[in-house]
Parts: sequence; C-alpha cells; structure tokens
Amino acid sequence: MKVSLTWVFLPVCLYLLACTEAPQSQAELVLGTVCTINLYEEGSPQLYGTLFSRLRAIEMTMSATMADTVVDRINQNAGIHPVPAPLDLIEVLDQALRYAALSEGAFDPTVGPLVQRWAIGSEHPRIPEPAEIEEALSLITWQDLVIDQDAATVFLRRPGMALDLGAIAKGYAADEMVKILQNARIKRAIIDLGGNIFAYGVKQDGLSWRIGLQNPLDARGTYLGILAVQHKSIVTSGVYERYAEINGKRYHHILSTQDGYPVDNGLLSVTIIADYSIDADALSTSVFALGYEKGRALVESLNHIEAIFVFEDKHIQGTPGALAWFTLSDSQFSLMP
Ligand code: ADP
Ligand code: MG
Repeated sequence: MKVSLTWVFLPVCLYLLACTEAPQSQAELVLGTVCTINLYEEGSPQLYGTLFSRLRAIEMTMSATMADTVVDRINQNAGIHPVPAPLDLIEVLDQALRYAALSEGAFDPTVGPLVQRWAIGSEHPRIPEPAEIEEALSLITWQDLVIDQDAATVFLRRPGMALDLGAIAKGYAADEMVKILQNARIKRAIIDLGGNIFAYGVKQDGLSWRIGLQNPLDARGTYLGILAVQHKSIVTSGVYERYAEINGKRYHHILSTQDGYPVDNGLLSVTIIADYSIDADALSTSVFALGYEKGRALVESLNHIEAIFVFEDKHIQGTPGALAWFTLSDSQFSLMP
C-alpha cells in the first residue's frame, strides 16, 4: 500500500507550528471554576504551565470539597487534633480571620457546615430543615479556629466545625499569579479566576484596562457599565454568581451567618476594587453579607479600597474613587451619589 508522504507530513508540520506559536490565553477548570489567563504577546507554554500548576497546588491545599486536601484534613480532625498546614494556607486563614473580625462574623471562614447543608452549586442543592440550620449556625465561630504560627498547625476546636474558603481562596490565588508574573517581568495580563479578576499592568497602548461590570439581572457577559483601571483587582459578589432554583425560587450562595439563609438585603451585587485580590475577594463577600450601610462603612474605614453597590431597585451607588473609574452604559440602571 502506498501512502503519500505529504499527507503524513502536512498535519505534523501544522501541529508543530501551532505548538511553537505563543498561545494568547489559556483556560482550565480549577478552583471549582473556569480560570482564564491572558498574557497577550508575552505568553509562553512554560509560563502558562507555571501559572496553572500553582493554581492546581492551591486547589489541592484549600479546596473544601475535594478529598484529602489540607483543608479537608483540618475539617476531618475538627475537635480531635491540630493538623500541620503549609504557609500559604496559614496566610489565607490569617487574612480570613482579619475579615471575620472586621465584618463581625458576617464573613466567616468556618461557614462550612452551612455551605454543606445547602449544597448550592452542587448537583443536589436543598433547603435545609430549620433544625439543621440551627445546628450549622451553632458550629460557625471563627473564634474557634486556632492557628499555631510556631507549630504551623491549624485546629478547629469543636467537632463538626468545617472551613470553607470559597470566598477568599480565589483572591489569594490571583495574587499568587501576580507574583509569578512580576518575577517573570511580564508587563500586562488579564487574570480571570471565575470572575475574580486581576487587571495586571496596563494595556499595550498604555491605557487603562476596560473591565465590564456584570448586569446581575441579565445573561452572563451582559455588562451594565465599564470600569477603567490600571493594575487593580476587581471582584464581585452577587446573587447571580452561583445559585440553585428550588421549587421555582432562587437561592444564591452567600449565606447569612445570622439566620442561615441566603443573604437578602436589597443588594444584587457588590464589586470591590483593590490593589490585592485577596482583599477584594474577602471584602466583596463581607460587604455583600453586611449590607449597604455597614458594608460601605467598612469599605470607607479601609485605605485604597473602592466599592460599587448594585441594588434590586436598579440603582447603583459607589465610593467616589470607584465612580471615577466607572461609566454606566445600561440606561435601565441609574447612578446615585
Ligand atoms: P464567588 O465564589 O462567586 O467568587 P464569593 O467570593 O462571594 O463568590 O464567595 C461565595 C462562597 O463563599 C460560597 O460559595 C461559599 O463557599 C462561601 N460563603 C458563603 N457564605 C459565606 C460567608 N457568610 N462567609 C464566608 N464565606 C461564605
Ligand atoms: Mg469573595
């Protein structure tokens, strides 16, 4: 049998060509979401490899849903004994405790028992019985999360307690991406870890990045306005990010540590703009859970943190710094000072 060599070589050559060309962006399912990184003309398979293996390592440490992560081991040993923890996890837990204190427990990294009972975002979401909610609430106490810095261990004091870092780990991960890019002297990138964004550097033309603000009432990718920023993290917590529909009613995934139900306070979303993504991530959840009055007061007590609030009645408010970067484009919404 004769096979034309051209037909063998042509696909091989095309394949090699495709592999040697720098990829423009790379996406992977990691940290429970789609993570996309765009390094533009500076991308290389090696650098993308380094970035995504760091993301997978963070997931293998911090996921509360995967088996045998460090967080899983800490949860399994709640009330039993402290568990050795790597420095990155200890750093995230330190920050989580800081935001738990600042938000007076509205943000709480020990929210695990409640998250597990609702299971929103899993294949089997459900409305827990009132008794289950009471039990879960009794187990949520960040004061019983003990970090021993010298021994490098973490301990949950009471049996049944469980960590859930879903509201902060992606922010930490985005900052880790930034560190890698800075070490590699990369000039510009968009890091998008499931909507947790870091607009790194400036655009090629030296201008600001233009980041769309999701319309919480419309399809994903429909923006109500644009934020023009340089080297900032932008993180939104909202009712649309992750939710379950049960008996025709929507239940979203930010849970009140007061009553055990999805937070219901007139807000559709809170966007935080900050220099570090861990702050933006932890604060977007904290401020959303606190509600407008207390949340805005918290934002204003901190330096270099800006916020935009989108309300159910379709009005938008924000800190002066945030509004200076923001252009509203959807006329169904109105800006209020
Ligand atoms: P996203 O995951 O869409 O980025 P958030 O950063 O607001 O959104 O995090 C929401 C996640 O945080 C939930 O899926 C859950 O894992 C966890 N969580 C829910 N309620 C709280 C809370 N009150 N405090 C801390 N974490 C929470
Ligand atoms: Mg968050």
